Amino acid sequence: MKAVALFSGGLDSTLAMALMIEQGIEVVGLNVNIGFGSTKDRREHMEKMCQQVGAEFMEVDIRSQFLRDILFSPKYGYGKNFNPCIDCHGNMFRVAKEIMVEVGASFLISGEVVGQRPKSQNSQALKIVEELGETDELLIRPLSAKLLKKTVPERNGWVDREKLLRISGRGRETQMKLAERFGLSDFETPAGGCLLTDSFFATKIRDFVKYDKLEVDDIDILKFGRHFRLEDGAKLVIGRNLEDNNGLKSVKSKKFISLEGVGVKSPIALISKDASEKDLFFGCSAVLSYTKAENREYEVEIGEKERVLVSPISRDEVRKYSL
Ligand code: SF4
Repeated sequence: MKAVALFSGGLDSTLAMALMIEQGIEVVGLNVNIGFGSTKDRREHMEKMCQQVGAEFMEVDIRSQFLRDILFSPKYGYGKNFNPCIDCHGNMFRVAKEIMVEVGASFLISGEVVGQRPKSQNSQALKIVEELGETDELLIRPLSAKLLKKTVPERNGWVDREKLLRISGRGRETQMKLAERFGLSDFETPAGGCLLTDSFFATKIRDFVKYDKLEVDDIDILKFGRHFRLEDGAKLVIGRNLEDNNGLKSVKSKKFISLEGVGVKSPIALISKDASEKDLFFGCSAVLSYTKAENREYEVEIGEKERVLVSPISRDEVRKYSL
């Protein structure tokens, strides 16, 4: 018997897989990439967790579909910030079900725990998520199964319900004991979860979509740097450190062009390609204001081809346009 588990890299989804593997089920740990994970690379961590419990790791990229169908039109609204958790979970289950068929698996697993998150993991929300995911009772939640209705895998005897658990609420005690029983190590997830739950990130998305359509290649620009919206509407992003600068350099969006001071240690900045001349010159001066430039003219390179001569302006002047 084979199953596909929705796998986030966290302890609960790992334990849910371990409980199924203990019952002789072959498990594929499926990570669904919606594009809003943190900038830290968590792939290595996820692979290690799968290895520890003996699951196969698989990743699927649904960023375009998530932007198109879920992020801006969730049927069940948002959590505290820009996180459409109920619709997002339902969507993940729908994707997982397709993969289930593709890999010849018979059912789905999730590490959800009843009552762990007040809005997205209460009994009602768990039911809605199943409906949205069209899981046809093929979804089993091993950590809370005994508190929930019997599912097809249990009714058909593929899984022994007696060996499943009845965890509820936010406590972590049972999970910690289980982690010990399964001999799991390094299970703390590396910092940074879903950015849609971050209030400042939500501000950046709201600002972006006021002026432009958010597409997959634009997502990364929201993850790095200081963000400004200039007088004529151009977006300006200035790197704060090496990580930001490297991140901004790797942004694939064709809607932005880079700015970098010449002859002075300069951050990398990106500005809207269609910026007005006024915004463009302001952006060039703003970049210099985040350097140790003296009060004189410097060249600023625009998109590695063109250079202009500008003087730095005060940071207070730039901050007026900060998000
Ligand atoms: S936290 Fe993010 S990834 Fe998780 S369900 Fe909510 S929106 Fe989706």
